[in-house]
Amino acid sequence: MDYEAVIGLEVHVQARTATKMFCGCPNQSGGEPNTFVCPVCLGYPGVLPVMNREAIRTTIVAGLMCGCDIAPFSKFDRKSYFYPDMPKNYQISQYDLPLCLKGAVPIAGKGFSGTPLAARNVGLTRIHLEEDVAKSTHFGTYSVIDFNRAGVPLLEIVSEPDMHTPDEAYAYLTALKQVLEYAQVGDCDMEKGQMRCDVNVSVRPRGQARLGEKIEIKNLNSFRAAHRALEYEIVRQIEALETGEALHQETRRWNDEAGVTSLMRSKENAHDYRYFPEPDLMPVEVGAEWLDQIRATLPEAPAQRRARFVQNYGLTEYDAQVLTQEKALADYFETAARTGANAKALANWVMTELLRVLSEANLGVAQSTVSPAALAELVGLIEAGAISHRMGKDVFGEMFRSGEMPKAVVARLGLVQESDTGVIDEYVRQAIAQGAAAVAEYRAGKQKALQSLVGQVMKLSRGKANPQLVVKALQEKLG
Ligand SMILES: [Zn+2]
Repeated sequence: MDYEAVIGLEVHVQARTATKMFCGCPNQSGGEPNTFVCPVCLGYPGVLPVMNREAIRTTIVAGLMCGCDIAPFSKFDRKSYFYPDMPKNYQISQYDLPLCLKGAVPIAGKGFSGTPLAARNVGLTRIHLEEDVAKSTHFGTYSVIDFNRAGVPLLEIVSEPDMHTPDEAYAYLTALKQVLEYAQVGDCDMEKGQMRCDVNVSVRPRGQARLGEKIEIKNLNSFRAAHRALEYEIVRQIEALETGEALHQETRRWNDEAGVTSLMRSKENAHDYRYFPEPDLMPVEVGAEWLDQIRATLPEAPAQRRARFVQNYGLTEYDAQVLTQEKALADYFETAARTGANAKALANWVMTELLRVLSEANLGVAQSTVSPAALAELVGLIEAGAISHRMGKDVFGEMFRSGEMPKAVVARLGLVQESDTGVIDEYVRQAIAQGAAAVAEYRAGKQKALQSLVGQVMKLSRGKANPQLVVKALQEKLG
């Protein structure tokens, strides 16, 4: 039988704000445990939450970037549960009236396994805002808890059950992260817990309208883990159906080392969160004027920028995709391209040399010692024939080391390409005189023999002769 998987994702992202959601504690990672805390985020009795306007704005930005409807009226609710990471025994979240509804995330390119994907939109159900809980770490016989993270504004982004393969889920996570980074909603570092994801997956015989039993998978620490867990779980569920085993709605935990999922809790043990409206907070009303102000500050979305790079700069789809991976990289390329330098050549320099040296030095594009203007100047020098492409690579290396502009490096190293035809003709004459064997071979029809003569000219000129002019002069002289 042919089966189809149905996948939905729930992504949590910490908003990048100065302070926490309902108190004035700093929203920062990396501090000593339990130092960014106060009675509000420690859940003391009798304290009152105060809403962080910037967190609301950031959530609206995320919603607008994903094409969501922004609710003119929404509210916060208490989600009741008992666990040490939430000492007031409820989390302030949003239940039936979230800030953002519907929307979509465009996916394209390749999935994790490298299979090309058809470009399409993955639908969103909602984006709501809540407070993060404390971080607990479990040891053999005891656990420790850090409240620095408690109360940090947390976006929950829920997709429609709209994906069918692990590759699509992977592409969705990648695209969503890219949008959120472009809009500076959050840093989305999964290792720091700034972005977390749970997946829901069910399997049904292809053509069956009714959905299979939904299984939720938790403890996914990377996009790769989400991909692997889905691959494993889809096979497990199909095998269960094939052997006549009934599947039940349940939550499973992914074990990354073993590469398997195991039962965490079944539906019978599911939480009843007893949601009710948070009485200590006013509802949120987003006025049209504020919404317009926010809309005016939105950056271009990655998918639009990709399309524009193809159209404005004549780049291939692939090049545009690499260059728009990160907003900082796209900005870098575009700043350089706006100087009027050859965009295709610039794209090649950015994608090969720049990204290579940055990755070797473990630097981000923002820390590049080669400015966009400097790279544009280098491309210009090569285009104008002042230096060869080969020399350009050396110049680039020097620019990256010293931060100098290319013209300064060229002058310092005396790297000017010889394009004076009189001088080149003299080198060519010498090379022909010294290379009788190669000349004879070339005249006998061996095109390859020309290369050794070109090499000889380059040697005589100590690498400075313009290779195109050398070839031309040799061909003329040898008939
Ligand atoms: Zn606090």
